[in-house]
Amino acid sequence: MTHPTSLAPESLLALLREDDHVPALICPDDGTRVSHADLARIVPDLAGTLARIGVGRGDRVAIMLPNGPEVVELLLAVAALGAVAAPLNPAYTHAEFAFYLDDLDPGLLLVPAGHGEEVRAAAAGRTVADVVLHAPGPPVLSVAGIPAAPGGPFDPANPQDTALLLHTSGTTKRPKQVPLLHRNLMASARAIGAHYRLSARDVSYCAMPLFHVHGLVASTLAQLAVGGTVITPRRLSPSRYWRHVSEYAVSWVSASPTTHQQLIEHGVPAGGIGLRFVRSCSSALPPALMARLESVYQAPVLEAYGMTEASHQMTSNPLPPAGHLAGSVGIEAGAHVRIVDRQGRDVPTGQSGEVAITGPGLTPGYLNDPQANAESFFDGWFRTGDWGRLADGYLILEDRIKELINRGGEKISPPEIEDVLKAHPAVADAVCFGVDDEKYGQVVGAAVVLAGEATVAGLREHCRGSLADFKIPKVVHILDAIPRTATGKLQRARIADSLAEGGL
Ligand code: AMP
Repeated sequence: MTHPTSLAPESLLALLREDDHVPALICPDDGTRVSHADLARIVPDLAGTLARIGVGRGDRVAIMLPNGPEVVELLLAVAALGAVAAPLNPAYTHAEFAFYLDDLDPGLLLVPAGHGEEVRAAAAGRTVADVVLHAPGPPVLSVAGIPAAPGGPFDPANPQDTALLLHTSGTTKRPKQVPLLHRNLMASARAIGAHYRLSARDVSYCAMPLFHVHGLVASTLAQLAVGGTVITPRRLSPSRYWRHVSEYAVSWVSASPTTHQQLIEHGVPAGGIGLRFVRSCSSALPPALMARLESVYQAPVLEAYGMTEASHQMTSNPLPPAGHLAGSVGIEAGAHVRIVDRQGRDVPTGQSGEVAITGPGLTPGYLNDPQANAESFFDGWFRTGDWGRLADGYLILEDRIKELINRGGEKISPPEIEDVLKAHPAVADAVCFGVDDEKYGQVVGAAVVLAGEATVAGLREHCRGSLADFKIPKVVHILDAIPRTATGKLQRARIADSLAEGGL
């Protein structure tokens, strides 16, 4: 397995290479090309600008920008000065932005000029910098209509600084804050690069959002770390994807199974596509989809297993000639893996248990959440909440222990949706769970007990006021009562199974 533990810890500044004219980032929508030499100039320049605006080491900067070269440049610039980048999903509603901004309490929020009405309203009273997304050229920042002066001195970040602060959906309704240090992110990027033998000749296609570790660490940082090129479209369009793949000689793409499915649904080119490999991560890849992808791409499709807390990749199927197996998330590739029981002891070889991991990508711990840390960390190991077993070094994920709903790679916390449903005046009780779905793997299902008049359409409309679209329940059952255990706990998976079998 590839472990970068022997390497000295690095900061993200190690990504910058001054003497290299290979493109680092290409935006296929407007032709923006940023060479590695450009990136090495732009990132410190933007860091200096941020420093002039008043951003300092340890300060938090929330970033709500579409995918594209600018978000990579700004994330790296924030991190370069030892500040903490907190990217936000642009699909959030006002209520969600309000929650995240309150939780993060950023000193600065970056929003595209002329856009982001919801996030701006939620950020009332906070400092917002407008980002003018130029083509070509680096983004320009202005605060209260006054363009920020370029450059300025700053103390560069070190490997122990927190670079990124992400939220993970918890099984409780409060999302947990996951700090990822420079050294965590660099170790993960290097491990991914080594596992797939990435080089400066490779061209990655960033098909996933850059506010999540999948798009940011796998598709982008891992490729930048070896001096290659990342294609960063602003919006993923299946019809343009195939043109971009051939125009920019893309050599690998990573996506969730749902996104892979969407990309091939649109019609695929007849001739050779020329990718070296295809990577799938963030939710289970159905073997039939894997076979279909291999026949479309005529390249190995490698399923990987990643997690925010691990700075993304923990295991992955290897490149040939080693075997890549359908139904397995592969071998250690960034983290050490054990299968443990409740006490944290190894289960007998081959038996199922909870997947525990450790490695240089692992977060030092959740912020301000001692209970979650006590539950998740033991002796330097981290409980993933996933259930699985090892067979000849290959990890096979089985049922989930955690009740998170995984909709095409987007993790959704059931209690968050339950609370929104319960806030409807006609809802007396509510439970949410994952429902199997061909396109997304899972979608949100709900069961409610009514104490007044309400329709399913009305309930969904009510949810739309506070929840991003991907969280709105697709299936809603109306029940007389929601079963609970003797101690009053909801067993969401059981309820979901009973409803799927036709009764409760
Ligand atoms: P996130 O922190 O959003 O990346 O989500 C991490 C979780 O996604 C893991 O704990 C798993 O439950 C799930 N996951 C990631 N990759 C896979 C995979 N290949 N198969 C099944 N589940 C996966």
